[in-house]
Amino acid sequence: MRTVIENGTLFDTESLSFTGEAALVIEDGLIIDIVPKAPAADLKIDARGQYVMPGFIDAHIHLRLATMDFRKLSQWSEVEFGLHMARLATETLQRGFTTVRDLGGDVEGIIRAIRSGVLEGPRITRAGRMISQTGGHGDAEGGARPVPDCACQMRHTAFGIVADGVDAVRKAARHNLRDGSDFLKIHVSGGVATPSDPLDCTQYTADEIAAVVAEARNRRTYVAAHAYTPEAIALAVEEGVHSIEHGNLIDRAAAEAMTRKGAVMVPTLATYEAMFEFGAALGLPAVNREKNKAVYDAGLASLEIARAAGVTLGFGTDLIGETQSRQNREFAIRAEVEPARDILRALYQVNAKLCRLEGKVGTLKPGAFGDVVIARQNPLENIHALAEPETALSHVLKGGKPVARPAAET
Ligand code: ZN
Ligand code: ZN
Repeated sequence: MRTVIENGTLFDTESLSFTGEAALVIEDGLIIDIVPKAPAADLKIDARGQYVMPGFIDAHIHLRLATMDFRKLSQWSEVEFGLHMARLATETLQRGFTTVRDLGGDVEGIIRAIRSGVLEGPRITRAGRMISQTGGHGDAEGGARPVPDCACQMRHTAFGIVADGVDAVRKAARHNLRDGSDFLKIHVSGGVATPSDPLDCTQYTADEIAAVVAEARNRRTYVAAHAYTPEAIALAVEEGVHSIEHGNLIDRAAAEAMTRKGAVMVPTLATYEAMFEFGAALGLPAVNREKNKAVYDAGLASLEIARAAGVTLGFGTDLIGETQSRQNREFAIRAEVEPARDILRALYQVNAKLCRLEGKVGTLKPGAFGDVVIARQNPLENIHALAEPETALSHVLKGGKPVARPAAET
């Protein structure tokens, strides 16, 4: 099947600019050509006066965290998870995100359902289960539990693996890589949504982090780490972690360490805003809302610190469950401190690499997937508009096929 998008102004990801009117030719799912005059096609889309861009990439989502009411996460059947995750996946695609990087939780079934065609959803690169220490950000258990006999005993859920010690984290890493993880995810500092870890605690030792990094490198991939504090960020990048997720409490020294090591930071500011606004109504406990306030307040400053030190930034959201509808808010929040070009660099160039899909996503070059969004306004002039995808985008295509989207409210 051939799809042609004609008369639109095309975005060039390398130069981060619009290069003029042309026809984009997509055949059997892949972009095959950019030509001045549209050839015959099975489907023609007239994009006159509009801006044709690669599909968006979100470098930090969790399809498994399908509700903010965490009691449900431990009560739902796999069928309920499947249905909720499927809806999140479809809506993500409708908002223009044709590729996502899932930072933790078992999403293998959803990936297979999308590939088979039974479900409409984005392309998914995933970490698999998050690896966390006992009492860390991946450990949702609290209260009296029997102490395991052996230090290498792992606890294992659909969300994460709790593993302590070099041998145990190695085993957790290998399990994930065997099960299809495209990269690995560890937690090296406290987190907002868990019960037993203060934000400023450091999780895992240098030896444990190094062991996971070695396993990732052996599989020619990398480690992403959830981290807020300067200590945790510096420790992680020193041991070879490639991407720092969130980074809200970063300081100048930690930012410089990241630049020195060539590490990437993926800010996820939309989630703190959403938890701040909707957390209480959606069942997020008070203790977690308090932790959220601390990282929400530090969010924009962390961007400025990272930018001043020359840290490479990705683009993520980390929205939980019901709040994933706020995904496109990240464009507007980032625009408070970043020029549009820098946001698009993060969204396309940096995120495509983080997804390990460089050349396949985030670009309109021949050989890439035919994943396209068509914007009514020039995002370089008004990137805020992308925060409202229903009105900002006239079309979303994945593999050259238009994605059905709900009509914008008028
Ligand atoms: Zn996190
Ligand atoms: Zn996350």
